[in-house]
Parts: sequence; structure tokens; C-alpha cells
Amino acid sequence: MATKIGKVYLVGAGPGDPGLLTLKGQRCLALADVVLYDGLVNPLLLRHTRAEAIRTCREAGPHGKRLNQAEINQRLVDEAMQGRCVVRLKGGDPFIFGRGSEEAAALAEQGIPFEVVPGITAATAAAAYAGISLTHRDHASAVALITGHEDPTKPETALDYAELARFPGTLVFYMGMHRLPHIVQALRDQGKSAETPVGVISHGSQPMQRTVTGTLATIVQCVEAAQLHPPSLIIVGDCVTQRESIDWFERLPLFGQRIGITRPEGQADSVVDQVLALGGAPVLIPTMQIRSLRDWSAVDAELDRLAGTDWLVFTSVNGVDAFLGRLWERGGDARQLANVRIACIGGATSQRLAQFHLHADLVPETFRAEALAEALAPHVQNKRVLWARANRGRDVLPEVLTQAGANYAEVVVYEHVDVDALPPEIDQWIVTGQLDWVGLSSPAIARHFAKQLSPAAQACLGESTQLAVISPVTEAAAIEVGLPVAAVATTHTWPGILTAIRDAMATDSDRT
Ligand code: SAH
Repeated sequence: MATKIGKVYLVGAGPGDPGLLTLKGQRCLALADVVLYDGLVNPLLLRHTRAEAIRTCREAGPHGKRLNQAEINQRLVDEAMQGRCVVRLKGGDPFIFGRGSEEAAALAEQGIPFEVVPGITAATAAAAYAGISLTHRDHASAVALITGHEDPTKPETALDYAELARFPGTLVFYMGMHRLPHIVQALRDQGKSAETPVGVISHGSQPMQRTVTGTLATIVQCVEAAQLHPPSLIIVGDCVTQRESIDWFERLPLFGQRIGITRPEGQADSVVDQVLALGGAPVLIPTMQIRSLRDWSAVDAELDRLAGTDWLVFTSVNGVDAFLGRLWERGGDARQLANVRIACIGGATSQRLAQFHLHADLVPETFRAEALAEALAPHVQNKRVLWARANRGRDVLPEVLTQAGANYAEVVVYEHVDVDALPPEIDQWIVTGQLDWVGLSSPAIARHFAKQLSPAAQACLGESTQLAVISPVTEAAAIEVGLPVAAVATTHTWPGILTAIRDAMATDSDRT
């Protein structure tokens, strides 16, 4: 039987901020068997793919070479011919200086079904994130998107700089950084005023965004002095002057900070979003994985004893998911908990309980095992207390509860497994000062992180890379393995870690 032909989606990935992907683009990524993405695409977007999807970066073709356009077209055709759903993920919008239309034409020629999903192009995104409105009632009634790739001094250029100099609006040059002096000169030669405002934005919408403004007379020196790097856009026009009052992105509290997130794989999404919302760059450094149990018999036995259990204790979101998930899977539901009281450590864990429509009966004021044990102790004499726990962790609860006269029991409901090695670039980023913070959210994570670092990277901690920890207990564990701690969260959650980082930065800038 002939294989059914697949489908190709040419999807705009937006300019870098992973939040600037369309919902349709996200749905396509979730469907994809194969994703072929460009070097400018933020790899965080790959979070939206299925685990089994094949993801190939265009820059990493065979023998480490960048795939050329013909090879890409061929690959799209071949994959679709084999019945696969293919997402071709391109920076910004696929049809704006993206050669997306050539890919579409190649697919059309071979009779392969395809759709184009537009993206937010660099011009609108970088301008918005730099506080520049490309059109403005008083300053600009039109916008031109122009390639800066062509040499304006060559006769074969398709661009007429005399027309561009007269254009009644904002000029936006893509791919023009290396030709900035030529572009500026050509506009001035054609009579554009030396006082015309110019803005150059590099890495627009990303935590590394930098914006330099000047005029046609000054911008070349300003950009040289600032050492801006591609990808950059050049914006020419009066609208650039609006920036001072409405520049917002570069003022976000964690703007420009690269923050290492050590949460287990698959559990970092909410922290990634929080870091992005504060203007920071999330860097994923999973130090362990969460694994489901292979053998549920011990948990099943506990589920069968729920009628005789007085208190159920949860100290993690994973614990809630695993225990209550198993209850549901076996055909049970919340009624089995009718006579059980629930204690949880707080914050995220009680929020997860709420998703199961359960209120915790007891949540300590501070989210620490000691506080939970202390709050629970007065209620447990001669009561059966069951802790749904991970395969490892601290043993405060059993000690305190047993002493308080509880009939204490525990059951492992999920496992933590160490990952074998940190992502290879992390060590190097620490040594070269490219990682600003690493958040450590448990003693086990702190110990594992220390073990995986090279001595050179360890020696750089506390200098350009600072550590923020979730609690005093994690701080103690970090110090014990030689890690210097710069900030300790007062609320013992990941948002608490981010607040501690902001506070530490504010204190630092007060000092300087
Ligand atoms: N299809 C893309 C453009 C591809 S051409 C889009 O619609 O945005 C590549 C050029 O886009 C770069 O040379 C640079 O000029 C611009 N560019 C892409 N991403 C950018 C970013 N985050 N900030 C500034 N310029 C960017």
C-alpha cells in the first residue's frame, strides 16, 4: 500500500521571545513528527513538541554544515513523502525575508500539502520591545521593510535610495548591520537630513536586547562604540524619538539576566514562563528526572487502606499527582478520601491539590518540612498518618511524627533519578561569565549540581555566576559541598527564588 503523503507547515517562530509564537504555530509543533528549525529560532519553542518528534537545526546539517536552501526544500519533500507531519520553523515571519515562499513553491511543485502560519516579524517585535512605534499619527504614516543585504554602491542593487530617502515614513532595514555605513551614506547622498533619528536594535525581544539611538550623522560611531552584534535591525525615522518615554522591556526587573533553572525535566515550564515575564533568559539545567514507579503494589496497598488512614501528607506536586493519579487510574475517586484529612507543605502543592478539588486541612505558615511536622504533631496521637513521598528526601516528618505518638507510615509514590551530566555548555558559560544566576531548589539538587561541575567552573561561582537557593536548608547543603550562596528565598518556592534574586540585585545596585 502506498504511504499517505504527510503535510508541511511553514511556521513563523517570531523574533526570539518564545511567548511570541502564535497559537496556531504552537498547535502545529504539538502535531509534528519532524521539526526543522533555523539558527535564529529560540530552542525554547521546542518545548511545544512531542518527546518523540525529531528536531533538526538547520545549522547542524550533515558533517556540521549548514543545510543550504535546496537541501532544505528536498528534506521537506522527502519527509512529507514518507507520511510525516513536518514543521519548518523559521525566524520571524516565513514570508518576510525568509525565503518561505521558495519552500512553499518547492512543495507545491511536488504536490505536497502545506500551510503557512505567519509569525511576528523582527521589525514589529523589535520596535515594540524597544519602545518605537513604526507608525505614528504625528511622525510616520507609512513603513517600508527593506533588505540591507544589498550593497547600495553597486549598480545592480534593486533598491533606489533616492526613492527611499523621499519615503514619507519609517524605514526598517533587515540584515543591514555590516553595511550600516553604506546605508547611512547612501541615504544622506540622496538628501535625507543628517538629523534624521536612527535606532539600531540587536537581539530584539530577547533578554540580550540592546538598543542604540542617534541620527544619520552619529549612528555609525554610536553603534561601533556599543559593539552591537547581529541579528540587528536599523530603524530610520522620527518615530525613534518616542522611545525614551515608552521603552518598557529593558526596564523589566530581571532584564538581561541569564538564570539557570535546575528543576527536573518536564517540570520547568512554569519557572521558564516566570523568568521570561520578568525579562530574564531561562537556561534549563535539569539535574534530575522524575520517574514513575514501575511497581505500584505498595501504593495500591495504601490506597486500599485509606478508610483506616487519618492523615495523608503531601510535600510535593509530584507526590500529589502520583498518589491521586493512581487512585483515579484504579477506578477510585475523591470519595475514598472522605474520612482522610490532608496536610501539605504549601504553595505549589496546595495549588495542585486544588486542581483535584481538594482543600488541604493543614498548611504550615512557612513551606518547610520542620514547620509542617510541627504543625501536624498536635493532631496525630494514635492516628494513622501516611506520607506520600519521593524515593529520597529529608526525614524530618517520620522523626517528629513518631515522637508525637503517630502511627506513622510512608509510601514512595515517585522516584528522583539523577541525570548523568549537566548540559555541556553550562560549565563553559560559568567559566566565561555568561550565566548570571543558578537557582537551586532542594538539598539533593544542590549536591548533584556541585558534583557535576568542573573544578574550573566551581571556582568561578560567586563571581560572575551567583547561586540563589530555595531555603536555609538548601543553603546549608550547598555550603557543605562548597557552593557559595548569594541569595536565600524567604518564600520557599521558585517564585521565591526569583524574588530573592531581584532583592540581591537591588541591594547590589544600591551599593554601587
Ligand atoms: N523572517 C525573519 C527575517 C529573516 S532575515 C523575520 O520576519 O523577522 C534575518 C534578519 O532579520 C536579521 O539579519 C536581522 O536584521 C533581522 N532579525 C531577526 N531577528 C531579529 C531580532 N530578534 N532582533 C533584531 N533583528 C532581527
